[in-house]
Amino acid sequence: MKRIPERTGLLVLLLAIFVAPAFANKTLRVMTYNIHVGVGMDKKLDLQRIADVINRERPDLVGLQEVDRGVRRTEGKDEIAELAALTHMEYAFAPNLDFQGGKYGVAILSRFPIKSSVHRMFENKREAERRGMLQIEVEVERQRLTFVTTHLDYQFDDGRLFETEQLLKHLADVKPPLIVVADLNDVPSGSAYQLMRTRFDDAWLASKAKGDGLSYPADKPGKRIDHIFYSSKAIRAKKAWVVESLASDHVPVVAELEVGRNQSQHAEQIDWPRYQDMAVDLMQQYLRIDTSNPPGNEIETAKFLKRIFDQYGIENEIFEYKPGRANIIARLKGNGSKRPIILLSHTDVVTAEPAAWEVEPFSAAIRNGYIYGRGALDMKGEGLLHLMTMILLKREGPPLSRDVIFLGTADEEVNDEGSLWMIANKADLFKNAEYLLTEGGDNLLQDGAVKIVGVDVAEKAPFWLRLTATGLPGHGSRPVADSAANRLIRAMSRILEWETPIKLLPAVEKYFKDIAPLQREPLRSQFANIGQSLKDPDFRKSLTSQREYNFLLRNTISITMLSGSKQTNVIPNAATCNIDVRLLPGESPEEFLKALTEVIADPTIKIDNVNRFKPPNSSSVETELFSLIAQRTKANHPNAVVTTKMLSGYTESQLYRQLGIIAYGWAPIYTMPEDDEGVHGNNERISVQNVRQGTREFYEIVRDISR
Ligand SMILES: [Zn+2]
Repeated sequence: MKRIPERTGLLVLLLAIFVAPAFANKTLRVMTYNIHVGVGMDKKLDLQRIADVINRERPDLVGLQEVDRGVRRTEGKDEIAELAALTHMEYAFAPNLDFQGGKYGVAILSRFPIKSSVHRMFENKREAERRGMLQIEVEVERQRLTFVTTHLDYQFDDGRLFETEQLLKHLADVKPPLIVVADLNDVPSGSAYQLMRTRFDDAWLASKAKGDGLSYPADKPGKRIDHIFYSSKAIRAKKAWVVESLASDHVPVVAELEVGRNQSQHAEQIDWPRYQDMAVDLMQQYLRIDTSNPPGNEIETAKFLKRIFDQYGIENEIFEYKPGRANIIARLKGNGSKRPIILLSHTDVVTAEPAAWEVEPFSAAIRNGYIYGRGALDMKGEGLLHLMTMILLKREGPPLSRDVIFLGTADEEVNDEGSLWMIANKADLFKNAEYLLTEGGDNLLQDGAVKIVGVDVAEKAPFWLRLTATGLPGHGSRPVADSAANRLIRAMSRILEWETPIKLLPAVEKYFKDIAPLQREPLRSQFANIGQSLKDPDFRKSLTSQREYNFLLRNTISITMLSGSKQTNVIPNAATCNIDVRLLPGESPEEFLKALTEVIADPTIKIDNVNRFKPPNSSSVETELFSLIAQRTKANHPNAVVTTKMLSGYTESQLYRQLGIIAYGWAPIYTMPEDDEGVHGNNERISVQNVRQGTREFYEIVRDISR
């Protein structure tokens, strides 16, 4: 057999390069190579050997570390210019250090024309070699691609971490596709590597490459410190390998990356375990910040959230409306074809009594599958899901049809100052929103299965009143028939006898209907047809005698504070009682007051409102978001009933509904009744499973409503 002359082979290869570039199929070959200034394991300087290794692998882009220019130890060579000539590639050089009369740094070789290049120096944590990063832009298939290389501190963990933070900050606004190749001087268990993984995929792992990817030292590789990272958006790793060679003290790592894929495929390729690990870690960090209110000190949570948003390049702003009290807003921009959705959480928590807890309330200790901490359920747990959703949408999500707004507010637990301040001063940032999701959902986990998912679409409104009766004072030994106390008691007695009218709101009717299948007969049929059933006096009596149902059907009154004389033998000239009235959505306080006055039937009794009344309101369930929540929840939890749950308590949804926003209390956090006791109580906790699964369930809903 006749051998093909070598020259012909070369010609064919050259033609192949000119006629059909290697990247025509959108698959790029990328290499990272610490060349040890061209000095091999035999201690000899030989750039040709390095070039041979590169030429053999035919990469399109190469990140090189430890490159000299004009340095005495390497005979004053301009190493990158020589390598570029030997490999027929373009180059960029980043001199990080002056050394022996020349420069020393990192470099890039590119088969594509280099459109632009940027060299950035890193700040140092302490006295150490200066490091930096080199970033170039090339065009692949009419799409811009950013390629970066760096070489981190070889001595100190915290130095590498500090450099990585700077790298991520510089790259925060770079749009994918983005590839970063590096000698991190850090193995996968190290903190710098871990931080890189919060933003990037690792080609070695993602392509399920054979072997351990060990790249140093070259003669007996024992460490994986040379890495190829990429933005998972628009890039997929096909394969990766290490190249055996003694031309340097490292061996190169090579990967084939497919660039420019259709974005819609990405959602299915999210590396969930990685995000879920991250969610648990961030949950713990968040719970360790003490924002007990009073005094609140929410500026600390705002800074914590800002750090994370900055790291991912998510636009955000803190509003410190008074010292230590701060709100934070972050935004992912959509194309504006739909109105925004707000993810609202309060960042303060109620106070905790450490002595009554099994663990320190701000330790975020994990025990038996639960993360303990004040705020775990109310509501840093939900806030965390909101945060993870922002990160996921930024990194993995499809293009958005609407803005997704993260809003973290101060002081919900005491005076709503945070939200009131935002609405009064910064409403322009969010008031055109269509939807808002926040706390208030009420879900039931029973025997390990999700049974009820209650979406809060309405809350009752507190309307607190003080009744004051006045009358003739005197000595207790000579009774006064219509004394202040006697009048008050007669009035209270009439109030107790008063059955406030039953009013069946559509959301409540739906609730009874939805939970009917969970009941036994005859309750099942009665709930299914609640409007009709309530006409039966016996049924009405039995239903309203149950606390969990009564408040859903009417305005309620609880007598709470009482006062009269301070002495047993003194008839007071005034007696008072406070009543906690809760009005149904849509009720008018004036009309209630009128009805109450008639019931009391004593014009001498004065009635005063003693709280700031906030008109009760509700949101329709006839929305795309409600259907989506219902549909998704049923898919994830086939036994769950999805329903509307009106809260007896109050949430900030009430404030935002006044702006015309559809506000729901909902989160995929499923609790057992004993978990709920921790809310405003002791040993508040959220299960690790909930954080992990919730991250995914919440993201998927927000993603789908924002398509
Ligand atoms: Zn709350």
